[in-house]
Amino acid sequence: MFEFAIMLLPVAAASGWYVAFRHYNAKLKKPSNEYEGFFKGINYLLNEQPDKAIDVFIDLLEVDDETIETHLALGTLFRQRGEVEKSIRLHQNLIARPQISLDTRANILNELGLDYMRAGLLDRAENIFLELEKMELHEVNAVRQLLSIFQQEKEWLKAIDYATRLESIEFKKQPLLLSHLHCEAALLYRFEEDADIIKSHLRKALKIDPLCVRVNIISAEIEVAKGEYKQALKLLLKIMDQDRKFVPVFIDLILNCYDRLGRSKQKFDFLSELQQNNESTIVVSRFLDVLLEHKGLEEASAFMHKKLRQHPSKSYLKLYAGITRPDKNTELEFLKSIIKQFDNDVQNFQCKQCGFTSVDLNWCCPSCQDWGVIEPIEI
Ligand SMILES: [Zn+2]
Repeated sequence: MFEFAIMLLPVAAASGWYVAFRHYNAKLKKPSNEYEGFFKGINYLLNEQPDKAIDVFIDLLEVDDETIETHLALGTLFRQRGEVEKSIRLHQNLIARPQISLDTRANILNELGLDYMRAGLLDRAENIFLELEKMELHEVNAVRQLLSIFQQEKEWLKAIDYATRLESIEFKKQPLLLSHLHCEAALLYRFEEDADIIKSHLRKALKIDPLCVRVNIISAEIEVAKGEYKQALKLLLKIMDQDRKFVPVFIDLILNCYDRLGRSKQKFDFLSELQQNNESTIVVSRFLDVLLEHKGLEEASAFMHKKLRQHPSKSYLKLYAGITRPDKNTELEFLKSIIKQFDNDVQNFQCKQCGFTSVDLNWCCPSCQDWGVIEPIEI
């Protein structure tokens, strides 16, 4: 049924064409043998030879401001069906026609630009949308497409310009997008001596979105690279107030700072407080390490036993098995063999917008392309 409906789509478009054609033909009193041409075109469509059909229709029908909509409709139809080569060819043919008005030219250019976007021909799409932007026609779409192109090309400074312009055209703030674009821009300069430009972008990102965890991560990583662990730790602890869900993701970076500063007691207190309201395996695991170090095996084992009873999970069982002496409990060997089977198949991050899940943290969702929508679900 679906296949049949798909097959009829070009016919539906062609019928629109036919109406336009009749209207046009009636006006100019064209000879009736042109109807033969029209049915020849339909025949090509039904025989799944749309390339030939397009040639016939384009030859048959003059392009003017009255018939252009029909042409454009067929082009859109081809693009929506994924037949981008055909829509490109159709739109290129249209744009080459003389005597089309400026508005019509802009409409065709816009469609051709969308074809190129769909085909992944970003350079060509960029040229078209820049031209439309100059013409001040289809401005919102041109700016939106250019923003998308510059993001795909990782031209972050241009992307910032266009995101800012889109905000002012649409009267709609996009703090997640803009703060992440500034983070990306800051990273462009991370290997350069001049730190001012990095700081400037990071400051802007934080001003736009004060809850942007990534700003403090990047700033802390820069401090760590310089050996400034005190400053790095200060920055990393700010994540606690921004979004605690991200603390487990960067826990080893935080703990490394405590270690480098020789702050063993503060590290213990930090983990002790963190694990009280956090069931993330990595947090419990890191707390278990310091518990063993500071309080010994018995207390660590009792802690894990309690956790396991409160929240029975595969990962807690694994941690518990890790600190209990196997030779004292033959049952444990069996448990361990079971535990190995459900190793590390957990998906750690999920997009709150589209539900996309992944093991690695992506600041920009690979599926819906939105920034700052991925959150940790289990570590
Ligand atoms: Zn998404």
